Amino acid sequence: MINLPDFVQDFMKQFEDAGYRIYVVGGTVRGLLMQKPVEDWDFTTNAKPEEIMKLFPDSFYNNTFGTVGIPHEGKDKSHVFEVTTFRKESGYSNVRHPDKVEWASKVEDDLGRRDFTMNAIAFDGKDLVDPYGGEKDIAANIIRAVGNPDTRFSEDALRLIRAIRQSAQLQFTIDEKTFGSIKKNALLIQHISWERIRDEFFKILTSDFPAEGMYLLRDTGILQYILPEVNDCFDTDQVSPERHHIYDVGTHLVESLRHCTSNDVITRFATLIHDIGKKETYRKDNKTGIITFYNHEVVGTRQANEIAGRFKLSNKERERMVTLVRHHQFTVNEKQTDKAIRRFIRDIGVENIDNMLALRTGDRLGSGAKETSWRTELFKKRIEEVQIIPFSVKDLKINGNDVMKELNLKPGPKIGEILNTIFSEVEDGKLKNEREVLIKRLKE
Ligand code: ATP
Ligand code: MG
Repeated sequence: MINLPDFVQDFMKQFEDAGYRIYVVGGTVRGLLMQKPVEDWDFTTNAKPEEIMKLFPDSFYNNTFGTVGIPHEGKDKSHVFEVTTFRKESGYSNVRHPDKVEWASKVEDDLGRRDFTMNAIAFDGKDLVDPYGGEKDIAANIIRAVGNPDTRFSEDALRLIRAIRQSAQLQFTIDEKTFGSIKKNALLIQHISWERIRDEFFKILTSDFPAEGMYLLRDTGILQYILPEVNDCFDTDQVSPERHHIYDVGTHLVESLRHCTSNDVITRFATLIHDIGKKETYRKDNKTGIITFYNHEVVGTRQANEIAGRFKLSNKERERMVTLVRHHQFTVNEKQTDKAIRRFIRDIGVENIDNMLALRTGDRLGSGAKETSWRTELFKKRIEEVQIIPFSVKDLKINGNDVMKELNLKPGPKIGEILNTIFSEVEDGKLKNEREVLIKRLKE
């Protein structure tokens, strides 16, 4: 039994008092039935947008989605109630959206245009309207298309990837017939804009089950259209006697994603693609059977750039993803010098250290290692330590003015040279970066 909170009941009563029907709908009902805390409150009503706006003067109308947003200030939390008028859709000639949207008079018509049975339930506060058996499917953790799956996926091909996204978020199984239809219609995903694909793909990456989501994308055939670089890696073998790998490259990539310790979407994306260069650089020695992937991170960097462009990443996102792929092969070795570790930090940027390590952890565990290595732990400690020492002349506790004053020099290239010398001594650990120490050294 669902009990709607008072502030929702009060809201719905305002519609009913004005003579309209109103229902909680879609993902909101699904969440309520699964006893999850509700973040977004979605409603559907027979009131037309203008009529809703008359009832709630501070509401706003988003014409593209036909949704009226109504701000609600709660005691401890404010919400925007999203209210959509019952509608019927028809004529999907371009695989993306209906040619015609009409207002409908019955809630059942509105439910019929929705994607999956679990999303096609309405609740008026007392009774469920559930013409497609959504409640039963939710209880059985099943994602099933409303009506004929082939029809529904060819009406709007975004639904192909929505099914997989919701499966990865909810840990629901896709019904066999629906799954077969996704496979059959996978190629239609090519009609969908990259921005919309990216939004769904990002939700898969940041879901609780991103690896399962990737295997679903592969098994349905969608992956070959959106990320062929990863899809092709499943037939790139890297299991040979002298290597620590137990998986082909594709499986390794997905397993790395599973174990990536960051929730950041770009870090997860980078983890998923970090070894894609291995497909092109694969070499197997005929005599020894030894497999190599020379410079795979360089090839991978080029591919990461292409992928960033295709998925319409911002420049900042692209830069972060490419940096992580470019440098994922960094050495972790207790014999490394401080200088080498500092060079590594300078290459990737201080802001990327944590993400780089999250990728590395995923990479290790995704190769079949059982736990994080003591080497990595030691490396993390040393990364902290080496950052105490300044990274450039600008971080020194003295500057050009000090040099001129202490040594009675005029401005000129000599000043920079002296600062550089001091800096390299600090960097080598011969001098402490303290003002007095540096000034004393100047005088020497
Ligand atoms: P989430 O928890 O991610 O918000 P949701 O089910 O609420 O999940 P939304 O994208 O917010 O998903 O969409 C709200 C509702 O609108 C869905 O539950 C579904 O009924 C309907 N819907 C959304 N996109 C489509 C689509 N492409 N085709 C058919 N129905 C859709
Ligand atoms: Mg929603």
